[in-house]
Amino acid sequence: MKIARFSHDDRISYGIVDGTEIVVLDGDPMFSGFETLDERVPLADVTLLAPSIPRSKIVAVGKNYRDHVTEMGGADAQPPTEPLLFFKPNTSVIGPNNPIIIPPQTSEVSYEAELAIVIGSVAKNVPARDAHKVIFGYTLANDITARDLQRSDGQWARAKGFDSFCPLGPVIETEFEPAGKRIMSRLNGETRQDGSLDDMIHDIPAIVEYVTAAFTMLPGDVILTGTPAGVGTIASGDVLEVEIEGLGILSNPVA
Ligand code: MG
Repeated sequence: MKIARFSHDDRISYGIVDGTEIVVLDGDPMFSGFETLDERVPLADVTLLAPSIPRSKIVAVGKNYRDHVTEMGGADAQPPTEPLLFFKPNTSVIGPNNPIIIPPQTSEVSYEAELAIVIGSVAKNVPARDAHKVIFGYTLANDITARDLQRSDGQWARAKGFDSFCPLGPVIETEFEPAGKRIMSRLNGETRQDGSLDDMIHDIPAIVEYVTAAFTMLPGDVILTGTPAGVGTIASGDVLEVEIEGLGILSNPVA
């Protein structure tokens, strides 16, 4: 199922995408299941919003593709032996087609195409073999990063956490199978990143185990799984696209 969060007639709802229509749900499916209302709206008439606004947090994994570790640190750079975790605040989330705003504190902002895991139940100490039980679905993310502040601050909170620095969407796919899927980004239509989800150093079950060993994850919380090589600087007027086979395209202008 493709789960959308959308606005229509001044109302924000969740729904199940069914062809060119959305079947409207009675509430948030991450909390209240898939009870439908007797209502369908044309997909063309709605504004898609970020499919989840995490209640508590976005946990992100840094340096989880070998080629990206190399491009950031040189040929001798070694990936972290355990997942390298950081947070992005829920106030950094924007939806499809919303603008990424470059703040005045930075002059070097980069994109990072990532697979996002959306958590579906309260999750703590989940072993890798049970990870699928707490995953609601998957969507696309762009881990926008102020690269200059990432270097100068040491801590990544500000560099990764500005408002609008976490585009999510367009929808959550509950039946997505990550194995073998391509992950890409395009800047103004030109391909910049083109990798495979198979190239993650720490795979999805291992990430869920590692994250939930540290933090209680709540329904709607999101885990970003790292980015392949090809990151680069963006400027106002650019248009970014993230694409993963089977999950669609997440497009955002830069302002
Ligand atoms: Mg990242």
